[in-house]
Amino acid sequence: MTSYAPKVGDPISSLDTPSMIVDIRLMNANIQKLFATLLPTGRNIRPHLKTTKSAILAQKLVDAGAKGGCVAKLSEAEIMTARGFPDLLVTCEIVGAAKLKRLVALYRKNRKLRIVVDSIKGASAINDALAEDDEKNGLLEPLNVLIDLDVGLRRTGIDAGQPASQLAAHIATLSKLKLIGVQGYEGHLQHVHGDEERKAQCLASMAILTSTADALRGEGHDIQVVTTGGTGTAEFCATVPGVTELQPGSFIFMDTDYRNAIGAERYGQSLTILATVVSKQTPSQVTIDTGLKSLTTDSGLAECKDQRYTYGCLGDEHGSLRWEEGTPPLDVGDRVEMVPSHIDPTINLHDVYYAHEGGVIQDMWPVDTRGKVQ
Ligand code: PLP
Ligand code: MN
Repeated sequence: MTSYAPKVGDPISSLDTPSMIVDIRLMNANIQKLFATLLPTGRNIRPHLKTTKSAILAQKLVDAGAKGGCVAKLSEAEIMTARGFPDLLVTCEIVGAAKLKRLVALYRKNRKLRIVVDSIKGASAINDALAEDDEKNGLLEPLNVLIDLDVGLRRTGIDAGQPASQLAAHIATLSKLKLIGVQGYEGHLQHVHGDEERKAQCLASMAILTSTADALRGEGHDIQVVTTGGTGTAEFCATVPGVTELQPGSFIFMDTDYRNAIGAERYGQSLTILATVVSKQTPSQVTIDTGLKSLTTDSGLAECKDQRYTYGCLGDEHGSLRWEEGTPPLDVGDRVEMVPSHIDPTINLHDVYYAHEGGVIQDMWPVDTRGKVQ
């Protein structure tokens, strides 16, 4: 038994650091705002669970009106299924013999699973794996699949036009895959600054997506799902006829990168990393116990919630906070809250959320799919 066991009712001041803390009121306000904006548009909301990595939070989103969730990786889908959350779309391509084995095993447990493909080779390999298992064990109905379409991100996704049509025609010949829709994620637009510019570029991407869905329908395919959108674009995607499903993730907690792009008005910073001052280096500079192990830097440095203090990363375990003359000085033992710059990979560095109201712990949620990189 460890002597350190935080519990509900404890003040967050008693937490060891670094700790990931969530302001429940701000988080609930973010959830409420997103669903109040998007539910009336009639779109399905399938939040991307790559942000929270938590079955408890996935269920909270369903309670707010979500229909299922997205995961990025098969290993995330395995965990979420085991936690009783099976209605999942895996938004990344599933490639390679080891993954195909896992996919078949998971599909045996979870017939609600949806996946994406963006190549004839990839679709055939998945179909072959499913068909082989069906031959041995029987009773395996076709797996619901969406064509992943490139709408400008140039990450994954097949090109619109002839390539997409050929892939759809190929899937139609496969006995163990059922084509149900198209995914087109405009990830390159999520952080475009300024609503007007982001909206204009988003609508151009949506035109590629919805015209492809229409073209595929014209070729006889039963395209029911047209899925897209993130925190920066979901409300624009929802105005486009033909878009049926939205995949925002980061809105629940936000980060400084999103705040810089879409403003602080829509969603609040509901998650911070609690840190302790461990050393005083100069009269206007201290060292805190958050570095690369607890805050990511790919989208710029995290910020101190109290903006009078400027953060600098000092490596794996440490960071600095500096301030101008006249600012109340920090000293060894003081606590600060750090606002992450990129929420998804920051959460991946922590085991548990300490959810609090007014500084009192109300709940603790495990980060179920932490480290599920495969
Ligand atoms: N959909 C896909 C395919 C994604 O990769 C992501 C994030 O990377 C999202 C949706 C959610 O976007 P956000 O967290 O920016 O809301
Ligand atoms: Mn991200």
